[in-house]
Amino acid sequence: MTKTVRKPKRRAKAVSKKPSKVKLSQDGQLGHRSGKGDLPYPRGDFDKLPAAFQNAPPRADGTAEGINGSQLNEHMRCPWRWELKNRRLIDRRSIAPPMDLGSAVHAGVAGAIHTFALIENPAKATKVERAGVLQALVVGVREWRNQWMAEHCADGRLADETETQLSEIQVKAVQIAERALEEIDLPRYEVVWYKGEPLVERKITIPFLPSIPFYGTPDVVWKDRQSPKNSIMPWDFKVREKMQAVEHEEVDLQLPAYQYMLGKLDIPTIGAGKFQIRAELPRIPERNKNGAMSRQRIATTWDMYKAELIRYGLKPADYEEEMKQKLDVEFFRLDQLYRNQFEIQSFWDNIITPLGKQLVEAKEFIRHMHFINCTGCWARELCLSELRGEDTGFLLETNYIDLRDPKAKLVLRPEDVTIEVE
Ligand code: SF4
Repeated sequence: MTKTVRKPKRRAKAVSKKPSKVKLSQDGQLGHRSGKGDLPYPRGDFDKLPAAFQNAPPRADGTAEGINGSQLNEHMRCPWRWELKNRRLIDRRSIAPPMDLGSAVHAGVAGAIHTFALIENPAKATKVERAGVLQALVVGVREWRNQWMAEHCADGRLADETETQLSEIQVKAVQIAERALEEIDLPRYEVVWYKGEPLVERKITIPFLPSIPFYGTPDVVWKDRQSPKNSIMPWDFKVREKMQAVEHEEVDLQLPAYQYMLGKLDIPTIGAGKFQIRAELPRIPERNKNGAMSRQRIATTWDMYKAELIRYGLKPADYEEEMKQKLDVEFFRLDQLYRNQFEIQSFWDNIITPLGKQLVEAKEFIRHMHFINCTGCWARELCLSELRGEDTGFLLETNYIDLRDPKAKLVLRPEDVTIEVE
């Protein structure tokens, strides 16, 4: 696989042979064993909303919990669609609830990393500890299934076909997540702890605009033992059908926002990482009628191809030169974007803060109508119908959901599939 790693413009000269350990001080704060002492008390807040936002109904400005990076990204793509979801509280309706393989893989990876973070000495993890990490992965995917069931079928019963589909996704998700963890090489990393908790999928909230906080949930915050000192980075995992180029990641506001928020907790970072996981397993190559292995380009790895050659008594050397370069599908990609504190502050002051203000104060929301934004847009039908001045009542009833409706998550309701014939 290819790792696209952007080098920092200015790197620390010394590579610490013994990376400083991150540990908790007596009051549960983050500290270092490097002798520099504990870091000062954070200025931000962590994993809880200011009292004013707890159990609060959606606000008129659409920021029930505050503002986060996804909202800003969405607002950049199409302010009208942001308004639709966040102020008018209208979302897409799916007739068949999607069984999202990405969420299942994500749940498995998160479960495993959370357990990994509890291991005292990850570099020398015992067999039992390693088995525990894998077990947590399986449990994570199972929890995803339970949650999916709770959200999508009110009586807990599933049609046979749906049951089979769900089980297939579960098995595939476990396999993909296992491969992803192997690729990451977990023992290389040390999860950062904060206030007695490992920073794995922990929501961080910091003050932002007057009475409106900013929040975000990095998938993990950790340090790379093989990199220079203070090499802490937040990472996000994305399960995708197609890999996104680093140019896309470079302009994603989520990653610099994580770095800024961690800075407010006095956790120094040197950049942020995006680990993309292809939502597919390597395919098994087929054999030709004459017994030779097919030389077609397929989505698999040389290791998988080679294992099949050996299984059928074929010589890998006869295929290696041609197939090694042909089997170039990426299953994983790590983009690490290095940003120093000046750049982060600049992102915050020049993009995130003005954008946040615009989003809260705006009275009108224009449509960013362009084929790149509008192709595949979930709001397209409604957007165009309103433009034509049509009566959208029926469309709203059938194709969209009202997020104020407590039953909105039960997407498959009996009335959705009933056709009345007069
Ligand atoms: S169709 Fe285009 S303009 Fe309309 S909501 Fe979607 S992205 Fe915005």
